[in-house]
Amino acid sequence: MRKPLIVANWKLNKNRAEAREYAGSLLRQLPQAHPLGPEIAIAPPFTCLESLAALLQGSQLKLAAQNVCSESSGAFTGEVSAPMLKEVGCQYCIVGHSERRALYGETSQTVATKARAVFEAGLRPIVCVGESLDAREADETQEVIGNQLEQSLPEAGAPGIAELVVAYEPVWAIGTGLTATPEQAQTVHAFIRARLAERFGEDSGRIRIQYGGSVDPSNVSALLAETDIDGALVGGASLDPMSFAKIISHAITENNPS
Ligand code: PEP
Repeated sequence: MRKPLIVANWKLNKNRAEAREYAGSLLRQLPQAHPLGPEIAIAPPFTCLESLAALLQGSQLKLAAQNVCSESSGAFTGEVSAPMLKEVGCQYCIVGHSERRALYGETSQTVATKARAVFEAGLRPIVCVGESLDAREADETQEVIGNQLEQSLPEAGAPGIAELVVAYEPVWAIGTGLTATPEQAQTVHAFIRARLAERFGEDSGRIRIQYGGSVDPSNVSALLAETDIDGALVGGASLDPMSFAKIISHAITENNPS
């Protein structure tokens, strides 16, 4: 059974004091960790990572980064490497978010090199894929997602591949309030799962596929009820600790209905 993974992507929001206040509030609201409960992580801006790592130590909350450099050191001004993220306490790193692809020109090839660097540092990459509204309306969703998977994922045989996380985030659903219906999302997740099986064989059954795109407390349960949806990558609704705590509570109930 795959343990769901719920990740808060804060994007470019919150300073260090706000981050600490948020973490304290979230920890107070969370029920005790349950063996069947989801894994939970926060992806704050780089500047908050270190202070959050100290605060979250020993708790059920893990730390993720939002981006990484594909190189581990050298003349790459402005970059942060995967070993640096590991050192500061990260366990996950998002790569290839659609905002990185659209606003910073990241190609699927760049995403693949970043995912490799994340693995090599002993972290788990969350590789994002998703189609635009134009692609969906042109009935090209599977072609776009298929190409992104083909080019953005580590090669077959890469060590630790079962630790990979894929996030399906339809671009038209990110920050728009439009969510894919559970059926729409499940269709794409099943397609992704089949492609992962072709590429990675047996290991693919353990790879988690998150859904992202306007997830909130009102829609998360129905999404997580789908067979191939193994968690959520949450942007806007994760910025308020009360709303994120509700999403987590729904995820706990969904995974452990008794
Ligand atoms: C995201 O940024 O990954 C995301 C899914 O954002 P939102 O939940 O705001 O749509």
